[in-house]
Amino acid sequence: MPMSDIAKFQAGKGTPAAPCRANRRRFLIRLAGFAAVAALSPLSLALASADPMAAAQHLLDAGKIEEAVVSLRRITAADPRNERAFILLGRAWAQSGKPAQALAAFREALRINPADTHTRMLADILAQRPILEEPVTGAKHGEKGGRRSASRLEKTARAEREAFVAESGRPPRPTGPFRLVIDAGHGGPDAGGVGASGLREKNVTLDLALQTAREIQGAGTGMAIFLTRMSDIRLSTAARAACVDLYAADLFLSLHAPSVDDAAVSGVHLFTRQGGGGPDAVAQAVAAFENRLAGAVPGFPRAGHHGVEAGLVRDGMARRQDVDSARYAAILEKGMGGGPFSGKGGVAAAGLSLLDAVDAPAVFAAMGFVSNAKDAAVLADADRRNELAGSLARAILSASRAAGGNAPG
Ligand SMILES: [Zn+2]
Repeated sequence: MPMSDIAKFQAGKGTPAAPCRANRRRFLIRLAGFAAVAALSPLSLALASADPMAAAQHLLDAGKIEEAVVSLRRITAADPRNERAFILLGRAWAQSGKPAQALAAFREALRINPADTHTRMLADILAQRPILEEPVTGAKHGEKGGRRSASRLEKTARAEREAFVAESGRPPRPTGPFRLVIDAGHGGPDAGGVGASGLREKNVTLDLALQTAREIQGAGTGMAIFLTRMSDIRLSTAARAACVDLYAADLFLSLHAPSVDDAAVSGVHLFTRQGGGGPDAVAQAVAAFENRLAGAVPGFPRAGHHGVEAGLVRDGMARRQDVDSARYAAILEKGMGGGPFSGKGGVAAAGLSLLDAVDAPAVFAAMGFVSNAKDAAVLADADRRNELAGSLARAILSASRAAGGNAPG
C-alpha cells in the first residue's frame, strides 16, 4: 500500500520536491521566452498552439481545469503511452477535487514509467482514504453555524479585499475558487510534541485540519480545500510541499501545536519564511523543535539555482511569495482574535524547513502549545478544539476574500 512508498521517501530514497520547482521554473522561463517570441511572430504563436500538450499545459496553468481535462483525455486516448499527458491529467483531476480519477491517471503514468518517484509520491498522497467526500464543494457539515459565520464575515469582506489589493498592487484573482491546502503536522510514528497529559500534537493537528475544512465547506463559499493527510500517516516534508503543486494552492497552511522548553509559551503564533521583525525567541524555539522532527539540518538551504536566469525567476517568485505569506498571516492573526487563545501570540519570521520547501504563500500556525498546561487543556477538549477550528475557518475565509478568491455573488 501507499504507506511503504511514503516510508521510502522518509528514508530519503525518493526524489525531493525539486522536480515540482524545476518544472515550474522551466515553465516560467519557457513562458517568458515564448511571450517575447510570440510578440514578434504570429507564426510561432500558431505553431505553439498547434502542440496539444503545450496547449493543455497552458490551460492547466491558467486554471481552466475542465478544458484541460477534456484536452488531456483526448491526448491520452490517441496516445496511451504519453506519460507526461497522464501526469498532467492526474494534476487536472486532483485540482478539480476528483482524487480517484487523479490516482488512476498517475497510476497509468507509473505503468509507463515505474521509475518516476515524484509521481509515485503524488499517487501515495491521493491513495489516502478520503474522509472528506467532496473536497471542493458541498455543505454537509455544520451548515447552520457556517452560513451564519459567512454572512457575518461578508460585512468586512469588501474592505479587506480593497486593502489587500491596494497594498499588494495586484488585481484580484480573475476566476476560480480560492485554493487552500491545509497541512496537518506530523503523523504516524512522528507524534510531534507530547504534552504532560500525553496529548499528542499529531492528533490535535489532524482534528483541527478536518474540523477547519468542514467549517469552511459548511460556509458554502465554494473554496477548494485540500488536506495533505486525512489519517494517521507520516508524510515527508517533500510530500507536503508537493501538495502545493498538485493542487495549485493559493495558500499553504500548516497546523501545529508544538512543544517548547519554556512552558509559559502559549497561544496562537503564526510563522512565515520572512517577516518584519525577524525570528523572535518563540520562532527560534519552534523552528528548532519542528526542524528536528522533520529531519532537517540547521541552515537547510533552498533548492539550488540552475543558471542565472532561473535564479532570477526563482528569487522573484520567492520574494512575491514572502510578501503574500506575510499578508495572509496578518489577516489570519486578526481574524482569530475571537478564538480560545485570544490576545496572545503574533506573527514572526521563522527558519522552518517546511516553509523553505513550499513554493506558494505559506503560513505555519502553532495553534497553541502542548507544552503549556492551559493550552493543552484547551486542545484536549473537543468542544474548545472545535471553537479553535471555527475561529481559524473564519480567519481563512477573511484571507481568501481579501485575496479576491470566491467572492460571494
Ligand atoms: Zn509540529
